[in-house]
Amino acid sequence: MRKKRVAPWSATFYGLVMTYIDEDARALRAAARHAEAYLSGLGHRRVAASVDVGDLRRRMAVELQDDGLPVEAAVEAFVENASPGLVASASGRFFGWVVGGTLPAAVAADWLTAAWDQNAALYACSPAAAIAEEVAGAWLKDLLVLPRGSSFAFVTGCQMAHVTCLAAARRAVLRQTTSCDPEVQGLSGLPRIRILVGAQRHASIERAVGLLGLGRANIAPLPVDGLGRIRREPFEAALSANRSAPTIVVMQAGDIATGSFDDFKGLIPIAKRFGAWVHIDGAFGLWARASERYSQLAAGCELADSWATDGHKVLNTPFDCGYAFVARSQDHRAAFSLRASYLTHADDARDQIDWNPDWSRRARGFSTYAALLSLGRSGVSRLFEQYCHWTETLTGGITALPQAELVSKPIINQALVGFRDPRPDAAERDHDRLTDEIIRRINETGEAFFTGTTWNGRRAMRVSVCNWRTDADDVSRAIAAIASVLSSALSAPRAVHA
Ligand SMILES: *Cc1c(COP(=O)(O)O)cnc(C)c1O
Repeated sequence: MRKKRVAPWSATFYGLVMTYIDEDARALRAAARHAEAYLSGLGHRRVAASVDVGDLRRRMAVELQDDGLPVEAAVEAFVENASPGLVASASGRFFGWVVGGTLPAAVAADWLTAAWDQNAALYACSPAAAIAEEVAGAWLKDLLVLPRGSSFAFVTGCQMAHVTCLAAARRAVLRQTTSCDPEVQGLSGLPRIRILVGAQRHASIERAVGLLGLGRANIAPLPVDGLGRIRREPFEAALSANRSAPTIVVMQAGDIATGSFDDFKGLIPIAKRFGAWVHIDGAFGLWARASERYSQLAAGCELADSWATDGHKVLNTPFDCGYAFVARSQDHRAAFSLRASYLTHADDARDQIDWNPDWSRRARGFSTYAALLSLGRSGVSRLFEQYCHWTETLTGGITALPQAELVSKPIINQALVGFRDPRPDAAERDHDRLTDEIIRRINETGEAFFTGTTWNGRRAMRVSVCNWRTDADDVSRAIAAIASVLSSALSAPRAVHA
């Protein structure tokens, strides 16, 4: 922060206060001006970043000066240096990974979260932040139809929601056979916990397992079907093969590639029979529960012991926002709660520190609270259904193009398509190369943004819709962009295979 140069006319107390207010107002107004211009210009700007890494470094790596800039100049310089390196993932034509846009009410709440600067560790630090999470947590359980008594935590994303839930799981499954506190004693000398999870799991599960000291080597991948769903017989066989091992099972609500759901109704009761803890990775798919039309896909999901999902994906809150839910709150609380003499604990309210892995933390419940106020119950369900609708339209439009084909049809808001090299002697790897080349070329046009994956051994382009802004115009522009790069790639096959 720059030292205040106090001009003679502002040397009074009032003058000083005004100087500060003025700085705040100037900074925030500059930010609002740029943010508005950015969001209203999304229709015209490139989706992919417009500079390469070298350019961006040259722009941003300015020498740090001894003297700071006046506040407005600092904001302007920051915006100017960073802008070309932004990916317009807030745009309705961004279909990469599963990223999610931002609802206006949630962005506004997020700005206020920063301006209010609440430390959402304890009720005492910010009663408003604590009650916002208490209320929004209850709303989320209601929308996602999770057991009412479940505890929850607002974390940075689904990755940390896994860590939070699996910390509760680690403790609970060990305490089935020992009286140990893994948080106190550590894991050495305790029975090994095995983790049964579909072979198509999201990699964040492995990171959570690694961080918790459970050991990735103890992950036993289960065979899955063509959509990535755990197959029943091998599942049952794995559980009965070692009945005495403390076991955590991880299932998926929304496979990252196909959007498929494990058969919760069929599988969870089996896992329960063997005393396993069932955790659900529902980063985006858990939101099917909020839609009458799609909720059947996740039927039986409420039988699990813990659930992880995101706010920054389907709900379109800004980053970073994820949610962990645990059916038996005592397992959750025991894994995280600590007491220290300098903390002030609430008797009649929820201290977030009892449920979260972090200590000082952003009041991220505010953006969820505002998002849900602005959407209402029906808005959440419409949002999810809208994603599914545009995924279908986009997939249909792409697969109608020459040499395009469907690899996995939309179940919810995810689908896979591929492109086939038309040469008569083309092999699988030529099709793969063409698919990757098409993705690269579309992104280069700046008209739309897609990412790829390997599915059942072949390269595919993901069609992933997770933004409230995506509309008919975005979808037709994206299809037109694909049609155009496809036609030039097919007419210049050498360039493709170079
Ligand atoms: C995105 C995603 C994650 C990781 O979530 P973050 O919010 O990025 O931490 C985990 N599982 C699935 C299925 C996902 O799509």
